[in-house]
Amino acid sequence: MVQAQESFPEIRDAVRRLCSDFPGDYWQALDRERRYPTEFVTALTQAGFLSVLIPEAFGGSGLGLSAATAILEEIHRSGCNGGACHAQMYTMGTVLKHGSDAQKRTYLPKIASGELRLQAFGVTEPTAGTDTTRIRTFARRIGDTYIVNGQKIWISRAEHSDLMVLLCRTTPREECAKPSDGMSVLLVDMRQAVGNGLTIRPIRTMLNHATTELFFDELEVPAANLIGEEGKGFRYILSGMNAERILIAAECIGDGRFFIDRATAYAKDRSVFGRAIGQNQGVQFPIARAYVQISAAAGMVDKAAQMFDEGLDGGTEANMAKMLASEASWYAADMCVQTHGGFGFAEEYDIERKFRETRLYQVAPISTNLILSHVATHALGLPKSF
Ligand SMILES: Cc1cc2nc3c(=O)[nH]c(=O)nc-3n(C[C@H](O)[C@H](O)[C@H](O)COP(=O)(O)OP(=O)(O)OC[C@H]3O[C@@H](n4cnc5c(N)ncnc54)[C@H](O)[C@@H]3O)c2cc1C
Repeated sequence: MVQAQESFPEIRDAVRRLCSDFPGDYWQALDRERRYPTEFVTALTQAGFLSVLIPEAFGGSGLGLSAATAILEEIHRSGCNGGACHAQMYTMGTVLKHGSDAQKRTYLPKIASGELRLQAFGVTEPTAGTDTTRIRTFARRIGDTYIVNGQKIWISRAEHSDLMVLLCRTTPREECAKPSDGMSVLLVDMRQAVGNGLTIRPIRTMLNHATTELFFDELEVPAANLIGEEGKGFRYILSGMNAERILIAAECIGDGRFFIDRATAYAKDRSVFGRAIGQNQGVQFPIARAYVQISAAAGMVDKAAQMFDEGLDGGTEANMAKMLASEASWYAADMCVQTHGGFGFAEEYDIERKFRETRLYQVAPISTNLILSHVATHALGLPKSF
């Protein structure tokens, strides 16, 4: 069978080789103990895979988002999980695009080498939900210091990060011309903050995602850690979100291919009623459908990544890629469990773990309804509902 040429074949091959050192039983043990995959993240960092988006001048490899999508897709196709570390790839984009020269020189080379972990991205709050303009975490400036008070929820990897990109209000919403004005981005040094105004509380979730709740009580952050201009933080955060959506879509493509690979192999191997279960069209067709859906979604992910790399306005494409890929991977997950019958539920097959992991992506980092709302209003010009 002639297969379409894969993009970045050498990078993909190197990622597959690295991932083969982290087989299913490694992830099963972590999942049981709710432990962070430090060894896996260290191996990816040392191999340079997490710094591909950082320009060469700052110690990275200066590649585009398309290369990063290939890396995350292969991680997920191998049965590993990039959710533990994908933020190290793109969260630095806020510093790179909007930080001062001094901030870039201070942080980017150390993020590229892995000396500094920038894994935490603090936006969501319990009372605001998806309506980010209603966040209440407030930073008031006194001289050269911001004093931060408030609360964040679902902040992943906060315990495994040296720095956090934090979105907070610096002007109350009611005093702003537009609801999206008056928010600012601070780079918080977690090593100094924890125990000095910042408390982290882990949240036990359906998947092993190292996510937490954060409480700020008079936390002091130097004003030198403000990224860009005060009050313009929402815009800075939005520009990074497209990259995040495309990269997460690539993880979904990897998950989908993982499920299709596993289901195909099992359907050929498992014999019931004297023949391979995969000989029955009732078993074949869902696998074929998953393949069709993942292939189509992968095309959209490639297009969105290409547009991002070319500097085009691809917000709608990033959203569409994330929605199609997360729905296709969820369909593939369900298909894979069904193909495996009872064995789909057994921990040692890794399918139930990946099933739980891939479900997240229809909710985070943005839920499907909000994507549909973006497409309806931005691409189709329909009236806004909120
Ligand atoms: C494991 C995990 C990790 C996460 N990591 C991070 C992180 O590192 N940093 C961070 O900042 N956040 C993180 N999040 C938060 C995540 O981005 C949010 O959960 C997500 O954006 C949805 O917001 P919400 O949970 O507040 O849902 P809500 O906004 O409360 O929405 C609930 C449901 O209602 C729907 N809905 C809401 N309003 C409308 C509307 N107007 N029309 C139609 N439907 C609507 C939504 O689509 C959704 O399905 C994480 C979440 C999880 C579960």
